[in-house]
Amino acid sequence: MILTDTHTHLYSEEFENDQIEMIQRAIDTGVSRFFVPSIDSTYTQKMYDLETQFPENIFLMMGLHPCYVKENYLEELAHVETELAKRKFYAVGEIGIDLFWDKSFLKQQQHAFQHQIQLAKKYKLAINIHCRDAFDEVFEVLESEKASDLFGIFHCFTGNFSQAQRAIDLNMKLGIGGVVTFKNGKVDQFLREIDLKHVVLETDSPYLAPVPYRGKRNESSYTVLVAQKLAEIYNLPVDEIARITTENSKAVFGI
Ligand SMILES: [Zn+2]
Repeated sequence: MILTDTHTHLYSEEFENDQIEMIQRAIDTGVSRFFVPSIDSTYTQKMYDLETQFPENIFLMMGLHPCYVKENYLEELAHVETELAKRKFYAVGEIGIDLFWDKSFLKQQQHAFQHQIQLAKKYKLAINIHCRDAFDEVFEVLESEKASDLFGIFHCFTGNFSQAQRAIDLNMKLGIGGVVTFKNGKVDQFLREIDLKHVVLETDSPYLAPVPYRGKRNESSYTVLVAQKLAEIYNLPVDEIARITTENSKAVFGI
C-alpha cells in the first residue's frame, strides 16, 4: 500500500524532538510520499535539509501562506519568486486567503494569492490552496485566473457540496484530512456524492489530527486513519482508496 500525504508540515517545531523517527514511522505504515507546503522564508532551509535526508519521499512546494502576509509581504513574494526560478518544486503553496485570524491584510492577501497563481502558471505547477472563512474571496480570485493551466488542490477542504462542485469545476482536487473523522466535520455527509477521482489525502500535520487523536499532535502516519474513514464512506477496501488517491496526487504534482 502506498499512501500519499499531500500536505504535511514536516519541518514544524512540533517535530523538533522526533522528526526523523516520526517520518520513518509514517514510511513504515505505508505513507511514503510527503508533499510539504511552504509557509514563509524562515522555513525554506529546513525544507531543503529534510529533502536531502529523504530524497525519495519528500517533495517540496514553494509559496507564501496567507497568515504570513504582513507588512513585508512583497519581500516574501520576492523570496518565493527567487526560489521558484532556482530549482524544482512540485506546487506553489500553500497560498490563499485566511480571514479567521486577521482581516486587516485582506487586500495584500488577495494580491499575494493572485500573484502566486500567476507564478504557478508560469512554471506549469499546481497550486495548493489554503482557505479559511474566505470561500467567496478565494473563489473570486480563482474565477479571475480561471484557465486550463490553472489546477491544484483545495487543501483541508471544509466547504459544502456546492462549494466542492465549484472547486472541482475550477480543476481543483479536494484535500481531505482529519476533519472527515470529526463528528461535526460535515464533509463526511456529502463526500460519497463526490467522485473519488477528485479526492487526495492529507494530514496538515501537526494540526487537525484525526479521531482518535483529535486535539493532539498530528503526524503523517495518521494518513492511514483518513484512508480508513474514506474506505467506510465509499465502501471500498483501504488499499483501493490508497491506490486511487495516490494516482490522483500524481496527476496533480506530476510525480
Ligand atoms: Zn498547511
